[in-house]
Amino acid sequence: MHPVNAQYSSDCTIIGASFAGLACASALAQQGLRVVIAEKKSDPGEKLHTTGILVKDVIDEVPLLDGVPAALVRRVERVRLYAPNLRHVDLEAPGYYFLTTDTPGLMRWLADRAVQAGAQLRCGVGFREAREVPGGFELGAALGRTRFLVGADGPRSNVARVLRLGRNRQFLAGLEHEYQGVMLGEPGFLHCFIDRELMPGYIGWMVQGVHGVQLGLARSLRGARGSDVKAAMARMLVKVAGVADFRALRPDSIRAGLIPCGGLVHPLAMPRALLVGDAAGLVSPVTAGGIHTALLHGLAAGHAIAAFLHGRSGDPQRSLVRSYPRFRLKRLLRFAFDHLQRDWIFDLALASAPMRWAARRIYFHKRASRAQAARPVGVVKRPDL
Ligand SMILES: Cc1cc2nc3c(=O)[nH]c(=O)nc-3n(C[C@H](O)[C@H](O)[C@H](O)COP(=O)(O)OP(=O)(O)OC[C@H]3O[C@@H](n4cnc5c(N)ncnc54)[C@H](O)[C@@H]3O)c2cc1C
Repeated sequence: MHPVNAQYSSDCTIIGASFAGLACASALAQQGLRVVIAEKKSDPGEKLHTTGILVKDVIDEVPLLDGVPAALVRRVERVRLYAPNLRHVDLEAPGYYFLTTDTPGLMRWLADRAVQAGAQLRCGVGFREAREVPGGFELGAALGRTRFLVGADGPRSNVARVLRLGRNRQFLAGLEHEYQGVMLGEPGFLHCFIDRELMPGYIGWMVQGVHGVQLGLARSLRGARGSDVKAAMARMLVKVAGVADFRALRPDSIRAGLIPCGGLVHPLAMPRALLVGDAAGLVSPVTAGGIHTALLHGLAAGHAIAAFLHGRSGDPQRSLVRSYPRFRLKRLLRFAFDHLQRDWIFDLALASAPMRWAARRIYFHKRASRAQAARPVGVVKRPDL
């Protein structure tokens, strides 16, 4: 160890052992730095608050997922999008797919990768305080001193609060039931439901996961209470009963949480500290997917911090943060969806060419539109309820 660094218990301390924090830790540890990951839960795989669906782009772009065990994922290739009246349109893009995941298993696998790379994972350690000291931060008795601090601690980041960095202000509230050992009649589809009354600002979903069915919804939190989400879920169970009936089943687990949807927070970095993942607001305001960006920018943050700590480049507070996506168009789309969403438009126009074009863009990203490959494969009438 360099004598100047001996007074620091770590080169970098990362708060939060989830997608962003574990990716960042792996990149730093691979470059020989002393990394500590502090996680308040006793196990990174417990009490997750995400459906855990990976888009194909994550597999293509995030080398960290190379070799992910087949037992932890399940491939879903098509999307069935339901209008509020339950008419639906089927969409696919050859070569494109989603992966549902055994998310607790995936999280433990990612944590093992970070530890194997040399990171130190400290579970049951919650971050509370940080004080600037020359060349780094003092984090209190449990965590000691670090040369760099990363807040990867989710939508309501404590690191952002303590360091007075920007904080997420706009959220969707998500709630999901998992029914283990259950098989859908149509397991090859990601079933998505539009309904302004039940899920204003977002959608509901039903998908065949690795161990059973995951059924959830998210809705705008503006002016709403947590209990509204539960009530909406009860009504969703009734609504989708003609597609798959879960009313008599008790969920084996419930995942719930907030999804930031207002774009990047500001500021999201300061000398020797930065935010990544949900803490930074790195979530698509349209799809509400954040795993892709958490992994991708978590890795990039790790590499940039390593270059800085090795003296090969400046503090990444500006350069790295400039590389984060701004979501300008997506923020505009979110505004439009929040203010203009009307059920009758989807009831009437779900199968129309502009609506299908928009759905393809959202579900299959640029690849499908570039290849002109995504196409609707059928429009079906409302099932008899
Ligand atoms: C219901 C729901 C469903 C979703 N489904 C999907 C999906 O299918 N696909 C997708 O791409 N995105 C999905 N998202 C969004 C996605 O889950 C997040 O964008 C992603 O988890 C962000 O990862 P992260 O590492 O930034 O933060 P998080 O996953 O939020 O992890 C933060 C970590 O920090 C820890 N932590 C927090 N505070 C402290 C502290 N003070 N000290 C120590 N540790 C702390 C937490 O325990 C947690 O482990 C969903 C979100 C919700 C709510």
